[in-house]
Order: sequence, then C-alpha cells, then structure tokens
Amino acid sequence: MGIKVAKFGGSSVADTIQFTKVKDIILADKQRKYVVVSAPGKRFDQDTKMTDLLYLCHTHIINHLPWEQLFQVVCDRFSAIAFTLGIGSDKLDLHAEYKKIRDAMEDGAGPMFIASRGEYLNGRLIAAYLGWDFIDAADFIKFDERGKFLAEKTNELLSEELKKHENAVIPGFYGAGPDGKIVTFSRGGSDISGAIVARAANADVYENWTDVHGFLTADPRIIDDPKPIEYISYQELRELSYMGASVLHEDAIFPVRESGIPINIRNTNDPEHPGTIILEKVPEGKTNIITGIAGSKDFVVIAMHKYMMNSERGFIRRLFAILDNFDISFEHMPTGIDTISVVIDSQVLGNKLPDIIDDIKRNLQPDSLDVYEDIALIATVGQGMTYRPGVAAKLFAALADKGINIRMIDQGSSEINIIVGVANKDFNDAIKAIYNAFN
Ligand code: ASP
Repeated sequence: MGIKVAKFGGSSVADTIQFTKVKDIILADKQRKYVVVSAPGKRFDQDTKMTDLLYLCHTHIINHLPWEQLFQVVCDRFSAIAFTLGIGSDKLDLHAEYKKIRDAMEDGAGPMFIASRGEYLNGRLIAAYLGWDFIDAADFIKFDERGKFLAEKTNELLSEELKKHENAVIPGFYGAGPDGKIVTFSRGGSDISGAIVARAANADVYENWTDVHGFLTADPRIIDDPKPIEYISYQELRELSYMGASVLHEDAIFPVRESGIPINIRNTNDPEHPGTIILEKVPEGKTNIITGIAGSKDFVVIAMHKYMMNSERGFIRRLFAILDNFDISFEHMPTGIDTISVVIDSQVLGNKLPDIIDDIKRNLQPDSLDVYEDIALIATVGQGMTYRPGVAAKLFAALADKGINIRMIDQGSSEINIIVGVANKDFNDAIKAIYNAFN
C-alpha cells in the first residue's frame, strides 16, 4: 500500500467544524498514514491567527506588558475545540501543557519557542482526536547551531522514527537546534515540514490541504472564475510563483522534488475536487499550451542604447558593478545588439534611481538612456509552448487588438514563458486579453 502524507494548513484546522472535516478526509483513505498540521488560522476575516497571537505574547513579554490574558485567549481557543470534540483530560491534559508553556514563558522563552506552541498544541489535539501517535518535530527535524536546516540528518532520524508508527501526527513549522532549543522555519513553514515528512516517509504523494482548489490559471481578482490548473511542473510553478501566484511556501518544493514525490494541492472544504498536481513533468496529454498567467506591478526599466555596444568589452560588467554598489538586484535584463535594459522592482530601487542614472551616464556613457516607470510585468507560462510556433504571435496579437502597448518582451531560452512589460494601468486588461486568447 502506498503512503500519503497529508498536511493541513491553518484555515483547515481553524475550529471544530474544520477539525471534523479533517478527520473525515484522513479516515477516508488508509494511505493517509502521516499528518502534518499548522496552528489554527483565522476563522473569519477579522480573526487573528494563533501564530500571530503567540508572537504578540512574546512582544508583550519583552516589553514588560501583561501577557497572561493574551495567552489565555490561545488556551481558550484550544480548550473550546477540545471540549466540543469531546476530548477530555484522560486523552489529553491540556492544562498541564499550558502550564509547561506558561512556565517557559516566565523563564524567558524566545519567540521561536512561543510561536511554535500553536503547532505543538494543535498536533497534540489532532493526535488525541484521531487516536494516533504524536511525534514531536523537535526530536527529529534538526537545525545546526546557526539555524540552518539539516536536511540529511533530519531525513535519517525521521525516516527511522516513522517506521515505528503505523499512523502519526507531526506538528509543522518547527524543529530544534543541537542544544534542543526550538527553531522555526519562516512564516508558512508547515508546508516545508509536510514536504520533509513526505520525503522521510518515502510517500507516493504529498497532499497539501488548504482552502482553495489549487492553482488557478489566472488571478481570480482579475479573471472571473479562471480555470483551475490540473497539472503543473515544478519549473512552471517556479515561474508563476516568482510572478506573484502563491499557494505554497517556495521552500516546500525541494525536499519532495528531489525524491520525485508529487505534491497535490487539495481543498479541505471540497475534498472531492482533485486539486492541482505538481510534478517534475506533466504527463503526455495533460499539457496545455498555457498553464498559467501571473504578473506584478511597479517595476522600473532603465533602457540604454550605445552604438557598437556589442563589441565594447566590459560594458555589462561595469553595469553590474554599478547596480551592485547600490545594492540593487534586478529582475530581468533584455538585450539587443546595441541596447540593454534592466528591469528593477521599484521597491528595491527606493530613492536610488537618480544616483544610479548619474553613475551609469558617467561610467558607461550610453548614447541614450531612458527610464520607464510604472511598468507591470506579465508572465505567460506553459511547458506546451516549447517548440510550438505561433504562441508569441497569438499573445502579441491579443494585446494589440486591445490597443495595449508592449513596452518590453523577454522570452527565456527554456521557452516555457514569455514575459511582457506593459504600463501599470494596462495590467488587468492585458491579463484578460492574454487569458481570453488562449481559453
Ligand atoms: N503557523 C505558522 C504561520 O502562521 C506556520 C504555518 O502555518 O505554516 O506562519
């Protein structure tokens, strides 16, 4: 029998009703042997995530403000879930758990320890609810003394441990350093824990349960009811996430990609929906010309022209050096024989633009230099574009039909994406035009 590792995000475990849905999902498939959980998330728009409450407790402690009541809010939420699910102190002594945490807080526990307790308590609670074993991530997910995640050591320890359990619940988001002190991943890091457990269990699939149907072909705030993506390759996902489409923590991909384990994004509120499958290569017959469209606004393009630039040695090196001196990373660098442009996120640029331009003019002496501000970048991504003539023509024709001026074009040599730059004001119309051309 194959193994599935199921990770449930904060909204999937926000309250009692969500807990019952999670239990139904887990019990519906015996292959779901290991479960990774986040801390309870928001129950409604104005609500506060458990992790945020815990960070707030720490902020109060270090500022010598009363924190006990805040922590009581955390405890009350867990106690309410336990009570409504009928989990009594015979199954889980929550009060003893709260006391240990409170004592640690009084003894000066750090923010990572305090924040991690949301996942810890939730893991305990779900394990008690399912009647499954609880595996504390602190014992098996390991970091070095500088806080760097130790992938191989963790994999060794955790795969040995998992073999001892028919079924188990593992809290997400944290592990521990060599001194046993808790270390957390960055925010949203339970996705990473799920991937680590999937690798250690040698799972057939890593299910990531959330509150959406997976990835959509375009942003639903721009396109009405965009088609869901059934299959997407890791590389396509990387291109789309880079442009702002996000469902999954980026670092969650490495552990499973290396071991060839597909990720299946699923919706806890609609468990029949197949969701999105992320894998190395989309199977034959499942590829689309366009997998997805994503973009973001507010870039600045610095465009330079210099006659015979192609034969001038060191031009690009000096340009890089200038950007480096100003501590600027750039997003794209489309080039022609005598032209080069750099595309920079305007937030990264801050107020450095005039000084950078002065430096470029002085050191590189371009024949002309133009700056285009308020540029949006749109990436149209699809493995199916490779070797298929006419895709770019169709995309550009769609934009031209709507009278949208293309300010920049960049197609990576992998040919799985075409990036166009348009004015910020044309952003939504351009995405609609591209979407409609291919759907
Ligand atoms: N609870 C943590 C956070 O809110 C980790 C997670 O949910 O993935 O960032």
